[in-house]
Amino acid sequence: MSDTHLPALLGDRPAEDSWRLLHRAVDLGLDFTSGALRDGLVLRHATVSELIDRFAGPLPQDGGSDGQLLEDLAEIARWSISQADPRYLAFPDTGDSIAALAADIVASFLNQNLIAFDRSAPAASVIEAQLITWLREIVGYPVTPLADYRGLASLGGMWTSGGNMSNHIAIAAALAHTYPEIRTTGLRALPEQPLILLAGGVEHFSYLAAAQALGLGSDGLLWADATADFTSDPDSVARLLASPPPGKRIFMVVGVAGNCRTTGIDDLQALAELSGQHNVWFHVDACHGGSLLFSEKLKVQLAGIEHADSVALDPHKGLFVSYPSSYVLFRDPAALGRFARYPDRADAPDCLDLGLITPFYGSRGFESLKLWALMKHQGTSGIGRLVEDRQATFQAMVDLLERTGCFRMLGTSDFYRCAFVFFPTPVAEVLDQATLPAARHAAVRDLISCYTAAFADRLYRAGTVVFDLFALQDLADRIGLGIGAKYQVMGMCVGHPHIPDHVEHGIEQDITEAARDLTGRMLDDLQALLASADPAAGTSGPDVTGPAGW
Ligand SMILES: *Cc1c(COP(=O)(O)O)cnc(C)c1O
Repeated sequence: MSDTHLPALLGDRPAEDSWRLLHRAVDLGLDFTSGALRDGLVLRHATVSELIDRFAGPLPQDGGSDGQLLEDLAEIARWSISQADPRYLAFPDTGDSIAALAADIVASFLNQNLIAFDRSAPAASVIEAQLITWLREIVGYPVTPLADYRGLASLGGMWTSGGNMSNHIAIAAALAHTYPEIRTTGLRALPEQPLILLAGGVEHFSYLAAAQALGLGSDGLLWADATADFTSDPDSVARLLASPPPGKRIFMVVGVAGNCRTTGIDDLQALAELSGQHNVWFHVDACHGGSLLFSEKLKVQLAGIEHADSVALDPHKGLFVSYPSSYVLFRDPAALGRFARYPDRADAPDCLDLGLITPFYGSRGFESLKLWALMKHQGTSGIGRLVEDRQATFQAMVDLLERTGCFRMLGTSDFYRCAFVFFPTPVAEVLDQATLPAARHAAVRDLISCYTAAFADRLYRAGTVVFDLFALQDLADRIGLGIGAKYQVMGMCVGHPHIPDHVEHGIEQDITEAARDLTGRMLDDLQALLASADPAAGTSGPDVTGPAGW
């Protein structure tokens, strides 16, 4: 490639040069995916300061050549983590649907602005409306076929940049439905404090974030109990709905279709009935579990979702679509119409200006083309097969963890993710035989947390196997040291439907080696702790939580 300065804009360049640059960019992407740019590792680990040293530079005043640009991009890829690598087991976000990747490239060229139909996004608006209709059908909502399109107020869903935003919008819609007057008067004029009812311990942070951002405040969240399976306890929800705190009104119940820690799925049917009885908005957070809706076999786990007033889906988590890809859907399509800047335009049968009914967003790109392309390319049956294959692969990976004898699972798992601590058999045996006074429980919990974090970090830094690491209560008391306190736990999430045998063996080998090394030290520490006369003696690791989301 020529190293001379070429013009900045596609339209000003020789077609041949543009073609070459863009093809090399695709080659670079493929080299990243294959692992060639990552030395065959999930990532080449580096610390924040190491990467700042590597990439920090002065304000670029004079530009560089195409070749220099590609080299810069390759260097960024070399220090990136591959969520599509089958040894990446922290989240399900593989983002490697080939159809979605192709669509992403095309969407960049099209550069449509989905704020409006005329002058901004003619075909794209229709495609996004079609996709919303398909997603409604998959959830089990009433559907108006696109051919009978009757205007924005009948659409009933929108693309968003993530589940966090989808949940914000669902809450805003539930508020606007319950208190139509707040559009004018704001929350301050309400005679009562509005509350969102959700289970503690299984909640995603987005509800707290939304309560704070939307003016409800953190006091606007009312916490129900979680079950030992890490799901919302319907009995607790029933009790709180029957007797909300004085001067307050529950306007929304949140059901979780796959929590982000163990994937426990709520009894959505029971929560829908309870919400219905009390005439309260029912929101289902299916950011994780939504992918199961594509499988005829697995979707029964989400039975009742069709009764939800709103549903959040996150295709960028478990549907093989790259970020950002999330959708929020409303059983009553008028829910979004309430946000319309020009309500009579939103009701006009020939208006498809999506920007009229998309709160928080003005100009935005054609991100929906990715999921549309995946669905056209694979059909619901193809996607369903991928989701089922992934489930089988997840089971095989759980078996792998179990047969190493190094871990203890916390709670059960409803689909592709489980949570566990480093708890090798010899350690468990010593603990079984010791009579441990309650005053010592905290120290042993800290020891387990500390070694769990050390184990996960060792593999992560080596770049060989990536588990998630976050904090979780042992609600089912699987370890036997009480359910109140949080442990640092690892999460294994299988995003890939197919993990080749040799990769699986490699993972088992890497796990066993790291465990061998740590088990002896953990045993020594445990024995020292048990022998110590000081009840406060202990090993305490740093407090580690999950990524921003938890
Ligand atoms: C991930 C997640 C979210 C937030 O989604 P983002 O896409 O990260 O914004 C919300 N709820 C649940 C249950 C999730 O797992």
